[in-house]
Amino acid sequence: MPDSIGIIGAGPAGITAGYLLSKAGINVDIFEADPTYVGGISRTVVHNGFRFDIGGHRFFSKSKEIEALWSEILPHDMITRDRLSRIYYKKNFYTYPLEASEVVTNLGKTESFLCVASYLKAKITPRAQASNLEEWVTGKFGSRLYRTFFKSYSEKVWGKACSEISADWAAQRIKGLSLTTAALASLRPRPPAPPPDDRTKQIKTLITAFRYPRLGPGMLWEVAAERIRCQGGRVMMDSRVQRLEHDPGLGGWHLELTGNPGIRHGPYQHVISSTPLGSIISAIANPLPAELHIAARGLSYRDFLLVALILRPGPSFPDQWLYIHDPDLQVGRIQNFANWSPDMVDGSGRRCYGMEYFCFSHDAIWNLSDQELIAMAARELEALGLAEQGEVVDGCVVRQAKAYPVYDDAYQNRIDTIKSGLARHCPGLHQVGRNGMHRYNNQDHSMMTAMLTVRNILEAESDLDPWLVNQDAEYIETTTGSSFEQPGKLQPKSRL
Ligand SMILES: Cc1cc2nc3c(=O)[nH]c(=O)nc-3n(C[C@H](O)[C@H](O)[C@H](O)COP(=O)(O)OP(=O)(O)OC[C@H]3O[C@@H](n4cnc5c(N)ncnc54)[C@H](O)[C@@H]3O)c2cc1C
Repeated sequence: MPDSIGIIGAGPAGITAGYLLSKAGINVDIFEADPTYVGGISRTVVHNGFRFDIGGHRFFSKSKEIEALWSEILPHDMITRDRLSRIYYKKNFYTYPLEASEVVTNLGKTESFLCVASYLKAKITPRAQASNLEEWVTGKFGSRLYRTFFKSYSEKVWGKACSEISADWAAQRIKGLSLTTAALASLRPRPPAPPPDDRTKQIKTLITAFRYPRLGPGMLWEVAAERIRCQGGRVMMDSRVQRLEHDPGLGGWHLELTGNPGIRHGPYQHVISSTPLGSIISAIANPLPAELHIAARGLSYRDFLLVALILRPGPSFPDQWLYIHDPDLQVGRIQNFANWSPDMVDGSGRRCYGMEYFCFSHDAIWNLSDQELIAMAARELEALGLAEQGEVVDGCVVRQAKAYPVYDDAYQNRIDTIKSGLARHCPGLHQVGRNGMHRYNNQDHSMMTAMLTVRNILEAESDLDPWLVNQDAEYIETTTGSSFEQPGKLQPKSRL
């Protein structure tokens, strides 16, 4: 058993690792760059009595272990919400997932007929292999539905044409969804929330109910961090790891923090890192082959701005969030936090909407002042007809750098290079989580990669590969040369 383990990042991955290790009696030191919040991208920010997510965070997993861990950490504060989210397109609201009758009413009979015709054409003349998002969605839904319901929103999210976005993203995020499935789902009455232990067959894109911590996602990570402390672990805030050095003669890894060069933490036999894969390479002081540095510099990210607007009491929309497809507006989604949990707002009747902007940190919008962003977001809300002029009384801006790891043509090769290089040159250094593995995934995936890593550390015979966790937080082993998939290998060994 290792004496002490260093963990970089107190997001879902780092906290999960710290929670399980400290529960097993191992000393853990978690280093978190943020001065205030644990939870990473899944934190909950508090402003003048209002609480909001960095984008709304649904808690839903096909993994029973993940659902059970959420219940273990927050036995009394996980509420279940029926999902309501719609698309705004050309001044009309469309239920999402799409409902056939509403689409026909809003688009009109002629456009609806053309959509069905283009869908049938795509099915009759299938493309051999889609290499980008445009080809993937057009092949699955037809070019007209692609242009109406996928193009402008996807281009807002990624900041480039759909023809330049890898098909891997669509295959991962919209996997399992076909027009037939969506249409059939729209005809059936809404099913009740599936119990947490019966979610394996649900298509994530179509889920109709999800769990949510009463005070936002950060509540779960804050409670878990407190438990880690009670279990003897340390969670150190305002502690950005900027340098790591492996010295086997001195017991393993030593970490140094920004602002405190020369002061070393450790030694740690193992370090679990959720810092972005592109950043960890430059932080490692030991010499690494040049190809790793080149690959790391090539990984790119999409950044994200949340402008939370507080509005006077008044009527509000019923959705948890709206997708804004209108290309004339920069906002990509709007969250209505009171509809996630009534405890997210201050009880005064004032409303709190989260205006989401996808951008790069070199874009002009990222560098606008908070006041300029609040004014711009208020104007867009008015243009949508969701607020009257002068209704916005307060606001708060959150800039989330590296919110989305970008899947471009070369990302997979770069990841492979870094992954195999780190395995060769950095014993005891483990990559976990979303940016830690450059995977565009949800909390459950990040948690599962941490769970497997913990198991590998605690159990001598365990040799699970966290890189084989798929987007559904299932452990998928693919035998070389065949497409055989073996989910669920984790189950029999489970003792976490
Ligand atoms: C807009 C949006 C909406 C989302 N919605 C959902 C949803 O509905 N459901 C869902 O399950 N998931 C959702 N996600 C995904 C979810 O936020 C992530 O999967 C999850 O937060 C990843 O956890 P992580 O621990 O891997 O990484 P992060 O959350 O990125 O946490 C990493 C932590 O490490 C810290 N860190 C980084 N580098 C260092 C360093 N050098 N030293 C010290 N600390 C460091 C960071 O400050 C951060 O706290 C959403 C994401 C976005 C952007």
